[in-house]
Amino acid sequence: MSRNKIYLDNASTTYVAGEVMAAMMPYFTTEYGNCSSLHSFGRVAEKAISKARVQIAKAINAEPNEIYFTSGATESNNWILQGIMEKAKVKRALVSSIEHPSVMEVAKSLTEQGYKVEYIKVDKDGIISVSDMVAKLGKPAAIVSIMTANNEVGTIQFLNTVAHIAKERGALFHTDATQALGALVIDVKAMGIDALSLSAHKIYGPKGIGALYIRNGLNVGKYMLGGHQERAQRGGTVNIPGVVGFGEAVELTMRDASINNVRIKQLRDYLISEIESKIEGARLNGHRSQRLPGNVNMSFPGVEGESVLMMLDFAGIAVSTGSACSSGSLERSHVLRGMGVKDEHNQGSIRFSLGRNTTKEDINVTVTELVKIIKKLRGVSAIRG
Ligand code: PMP
Repeated sequence: MSRNKIYLDNASTTYVAGEVMAAMMPYFTTEYGNCSSLHSFGRVAEKAISKARVQIAKAINAEPNEIYFTSGATESNNWILQGIMEKAKVKRALVSSIEHPSVMEVAKSLTEQGYKVEYIKVDKDGIISVSDMVAKLGKPAAIVSIMTANNEVGTIQFLNTVAHIAKERGALFHTDATQALGALVIDVKAMGIDALSLSAHKIYGPKGIGALYIRNGLNVGKYMLGGHQERAQRGGTVNIPGVVGFGEAVELTMRDASINNVRIKQLRDYLISEIESKIEGARLNGHRSQRLPGNVNMSFPGVEGESVLMMLDFAGIAVSTGSACSSGSLERSHVLRGMGVKDEHNQGSIRFSLGRNTTKEDINVTVTELVKIIKKLRGVSAIRG
């Protein structure tokens, strides 16, 4: 990345860490075997993916044979929800109302296929409403899917609590932990989590590789029909360099989590307080403390988020409105809507996501530019907030 640009979109994707690149390189060039092959090249590749399975399993206290490699969290979410519902006797599923599109779109598709999907409410900070969850579990549900931490507003759920509520009422529990690895302790055994989705490119690993943890004994069914890869559950030649990079990225994330979290959280809180003190009407979305270390999501009434994004981009600062996946359309965020955020705040919301290479200087430059931009836009804006 060029030095005079500022990247505050780490929730969208991160750069690949040097150690991760170094770990992957041999598997592109010299150790290029297919892990399904029986010869020495194949055995080297098999050993490499076994190591990654251990690295990833360790991070969430799973068994290595409970980790299935996928093309990313989108695939993991599709696999678990579609797979469980096809096998379930109870044709009803519950998901939170603020899930990522890779859960929301599957939920929509399940409804079209004749299943019943209901949406658990969240409060104004994005925390799951336990009373709504308990009420909805008054009737049997096959699975409950609640993301560990939200990608737009950064709110972290009380994962242990919601997982146990689901289990006690006879439902399976899945969580999309894509944004959350390293931000909180995840122990699938102690928490009673049946399935969990992960992705490498949010934690300084490569794009196009992720995993689905499936508790041993849980029959989800095959996702990709083909060869016998991934214990015959997901056909297709394994992306070995990707898997190796993912394993390394997870290990580094866990190793350095406490140091990185403290530093990034300080910058996050500094950015929030600078914006709140310098921009009138600015409002934080999401929970103030129960949030991802790098997430700052602010509303600026009276302006369109997309205009702020474009002007910041012009100043060399990369941010996002809502989630990157829904950027490009002027649709309001379903996450903010689910939290009851008024439309005038919803349309002027910006997500700044800080990462390992964010500096205090980056934050200062961003705030200076942002103040100028909001002032300028409010001068010309038709919306009054
Ligand atoms: N879930 C969440 C919470 C995410 O933030 C993302 C990435 N935006 C995904 C799922 C999809 O992950 P992937 O890009 O690996 O398919």
